[in-house]
Amino acid sequence: MTSTRAAEPIAPGVRRVRVPMPPGTGLPFSNAYLIEDADGAVHVIDPGSPTAEAREALRAALGAAPVASMVLTHLHADHSGGAAALAHDTGASVLVHERERAALGLIAAGFPAPDLEAWGVPAERRPELLAAAAIPTEPAAELVDAVITGVLADGQLLDIPGRRLRVVGTPGHTDGHLCLHDEEAGLLLTGDHVLPTVNSGLGLGGPTATNPVADYLASLDRVAQLDRGDLRALPGHEDPFGGLRERCAELAAHQLRRAEEVAAHPAGTVWEAAGTLTWTGGWDGLAGFTLLSALRQTAQHREFVARRV
Ligand SMILES: [Zn+2]
Repeated sequence: MTSTRAAEPIAPGVRRVRVPMPPGTGLPFSNAYLIEDADGAVHVIDPGSPTAEAREALRAALGAAPVASMVLTHLHADHSGGAAALAHDTGASVLVHERERAALGLIAAGFPAPDLEAWGVPAERRPELLAAAAIPTEPAAELVDAVITGVLADGQLLDIPGRRLRVVGTPGHTDGHLCLHDEEAGLLLTGDHVLPTVNSGLGLGGPTATNPVADYLASLDRVAQLDRGDLRALPGHEDPFGGLRERCAELAAHQLRRAEEVAAHPAGTVWEAAGTLTWTGGWDGLAGFTLLSALRQTAQHREFVARRV
C-alpha cells in the first residue's frame, strides 16, 4: 500500500499527495497537487481536509519548500478545508474562481431549507431531512472566506513562473468549480468535475440561477474538447488517468440517462420519481444527508427536463 505521506511524481515539476479524508466520508483520500515553479517555490492545488491528519500529510510532503500560492478547484471542505491553516503557516495567497467566491455567502449560510412538502416527502421522513439540511455542509466556509486573497476568471493564466496553467471554469459540481489546463505538459487538473470512476454530485455549491445539470453537460463538453488524445487527467480523488474525452462522454451519458428516467415519471412528485430511480446502496438505504442529496439530484434533473422541452 502506498503511503499517504509520499509526494508522488506525476510529471516534471508536478507531484501528487494523497491527503487522508476523515473516516465515514466515503472516499479514502483527496489529491493535493504540488506544482514547483522556476524559482523553487511550490503552488498547492487543493490542500485537502481541515483535519490534523490531513495537515500533517501535506506538511510532510511539502517539507521546507516555500509555498507561494494555493488554488482551490472548489470550496468543498475535502479540497479547501486545509487552506486556512496552510495560509497561516506559509503566508501563501489563496485563489478561487470568481463564481465560487460569489457563492461563498450562500454556502456559509447553508442551503435554504428545501420545500419538502412540494417534493412530496412523507411527513414522517421530513424531520431527518430538515436536520440534514440544517447541518452546515461546509464548516470551513467562513474560514476560507477570511483567507481568500484573490479570484480567478476563465482563461486566466496562473502566476506561476516557468509554467502555463490556465483556468477553465467548469460549473456543475459547484457553480464556480474550476479545472486547470497545462497545455505544454498535456495535463488537466480536474478537481471533482471529472473523476475516473465516481459520478460527482451536481449543484453542491448552493443555489444557482442556472440549472446544474445543463451547466455540467456544457462543462464536460468544454474539457473533452481540450483532449486531443494524449491529455492526462489529474483528478481530485482516485488516481490520474487517460481517456478524458471518453470519460466525459460516459459521465454525460449517465446524466442524460438519469434525465430520461426522471422524464418517464413526469406526473408524480420528486419523492415518487426518486423512488423509481437506481441509487448506489438502494433507495431504501438512503437516509438523512444522502437522501436529501438524492432528492436534490432528482429535482435538478426534473428541472433540466422541463427546461429542455
Ligand atoms: Zn467536491
